[in-house]
Amino acid sequence: MHKLILKPGREKSLKRRHPWVFSGAVAKVQGKPDAGETVEVHSATGEFLALAAFSPQSQIVARIWDWGKRAIDGAFFRERIAQAVGQRRSLLDGADTDAMRLLHGESDGLPGVVADRYADTLVLQLTSAGADAWRDVIAEALVEASGAARVWERSDAEVRELEGLAPASGPLRGPREPARIVVREHGLKFEVDLERGHKTGFYLDQRDNRLRVRRLARGRDVLDGFCYTGGFALNAQAGGARSVMAVDSSAEALALARANAELNGLSGVDWVGGDVFQMLRHLRDGRRQFDLITLDPPKFAPTAAHVARAARAYKDINLLAFKLLRPGGSLVTFSCSGGVSIDLFQKIIAGAALDAGVNAQIVERLGAAPDHPVALNFPEGDYLKGLVCRVAQ
Ligand code: SAH
Repeated sequence: MHKLILKPGREKSLKRRHPWVFSGAVAKVQGKPDAGETVEVHSATGEFLALAAFSPQSQIVARIWDWGKRAIDGAFFRERIAQAVGQRRSLLDGADTDAMRLLHGESDGLPGVVADRYADTLVLQLTSAGADAWRDVIAEALVEASGAARVWERSDAEVRELEGLAPASGPLRGPREPARIVVREHGLKFEVDLERGHKTGFYLDQRDNRLRVRRLARGRDVLDGFCYTGGFALNAQAGGARSVMAVDSSAEALALARANAELNGLSGVDWVGGDVFQMLRHLRDGRRQFDLITLDPPKFAPTAAHVARAARAYKDINLLAFKLLRPGGSLVTFSCSGGVSIDLFQKIIAGAALDAGVNAQIVERLGAAPDHPVALNFPEGDYLKGLVCRVAQ
């Protein structure tokens, strides 16, 4: 088998079982592995470290499949996939939910592989050369483990470019239609657009945080910034909010949000197209006030290189949100930026409260739902952080 030989001392992260090999750590490649092919990773002294998938075009030149010497074959994928799906079997018992993440990449021991279940349809997203090479085996194993009837592929994430992979989307198993399916989440219905929805169609990681907002909303005037297809806004109305205003810049997302409102017989949300940064200023200038504000922006800092600009953006929207809150009001604020740690996020929010001239407390810390586990050896998996802050009376 082809081998990657590391530079002296560069085996340290692998010894801690971090599943990535960076190109700068590699002294030489023995043989001529193809993209996605399995290679052995060895230390400079010749010690076997792991079996990995080779990604010659990426800065992450190899991603670990296994720490032992075993065959990386159909049986390997069937085993890992059966395990991940099995662990989730009872996770949503009694939750009146039929949409969940089944495979969460590195944290489920399958770098570059994400699979989400939307009712009877699985959506597969492959973002590394290794994952791409095993597409059919992975799809088969998923069908076998989950009993789902249909598999769609949504391998159109930008990160594929870094791996030298072209986008690939569309049906893999089963029919193309319907391209929109209705899922249930804690009793509410949401339409998921398999073809054009963000990520694999829906932000499953926010499931339990949406329920949290439902429970905070009774009698309150609510603003949902970056509402996408209405997740927080519809939960707020379902929870008995007095009024709900929801803002997003995507007309397509808002069209689906309106459809979702209708599906649930929740007609009270004021859906507003526009830029949240501008809208918050406009609301401030108009002296509008709210009791509960959610801010769930897109990734401002995908990597550490964007942190400074991202920090300014987070501070800006959170400062404005604090100004719009009545005394005793709550801000539920998120960052899904890999480059922004929870410590940094908390500092940014503290700075925003200070500059807004409010006293606020953290009353709760939020993260991704439990079908998005974080392997302890892969802290990068802990991307979603949220704070529930209450402004003093
Ligand atoms: N909370 C949502 C997910 C939000 S995703 C849920 O629970 O489903 C982030 C959203 O922000 C996307 O819908 C995107 O269209 C929107 N967006 C990105 N930049 C924006 C901006 N500057 N102003 C308004 N919306 C924006």
